[in-house]
Amino acid sequence: MSNPCIICVAITGSLPTKENNPAVPISIAEQIESTQAAFEAGASIAHCHVRDDAGMPTSDPDRFASLKEGLEQHCPGMIVQLSTGGRSGAGRERGGMLSLRPDMASMSVGSTNFPTRVYENAPDLIDWLASEMRTYGVKPEIEAFDLSHILRAKEMADKGEIEGTPYVQFVMGVKNAMPVDRDVFDYYIKTVHRLFGPDTPWCAAGIGRHQLALNEWAISSGGHARTGLEDNVRLDRDRLAPSNAALVELAVGLCEKYERPIATWQQARQILGLRKVAA
Ligand SMILES: [Zn+2]
Repeated sequence: MSNPCIICVAITGSLPTKENNPAVPISIAEQIESTQAAFEAGASIAHCHVRDDAGMPTSDPDRFASLKEGLEQHCPGMIVQLSTGGRSGAGRERGGMLSLRPDMASMSVGSTNFPTRVYENAPDLIDWLASEMRTYGVKPEIEAFDLSHILRAKEMADKGEIEGTPYVQFVMGVKNAMPVDRDVFDYYIKTVHRLFGPDTPWCAAGIGRHQLALNEWAISSGGHARTGLEDNVRLDRDRLAPSNAALVELAVGLCEKYERPIATWQQARQILGLRKVAA
């Protein structure tokens, strides 16, 4: 397979703490340093959450602005994807940073169960997040926790609520949500290709110990891969990951195994239909 593989690094997330793994970047300075190393290792998308001074998740637009500015300075050309995920705020707070015009933002288009709660994405909130993304020229990444989310993205694209072809990420291995299941994974790919066209790019993320398996499934199937300490803090069963870059290197190794070139940030922007930037 010769199509370049986009590696997304989810650097921080809402949940992991320094107690889980001291390498999890929490402050903006740590996040920039960790992302720069991951960028140099081959990642071309940074999926970002921010934390407050106590290390708790927040949707504070000022923090997102500082992080975005730092990443643009230290990782020129890298795609900045901000999370509108639900652990960092309630309701429209979750999209308060979209006016910063990041390249991308994650967007869930349906509700799902998470380990200890409902990940609530009400229809009116989804519509509002989508409209903010259109207003500010932000490309959504659709977080598909379920098959219905892929079909919902199709409806939204048909109505013009999502501009262009949706970029869907399959998320597997969240407790109480979609387990890691190869048949379902293959059907997700089939569904994306049927609804959006056979050459449509897609990506996948596996949570916890499933991260590397999902990387391998995606890379060997022509998709794009997400890794990073947000989803998994371990390098293997016995060792904590020393950095985000170390997890990116595992994905790079799989790309070598399956003869996939690593997408440069320029290639990643082209594949995803994002604006060109001068770096
Ligand atoms: Zn996230």
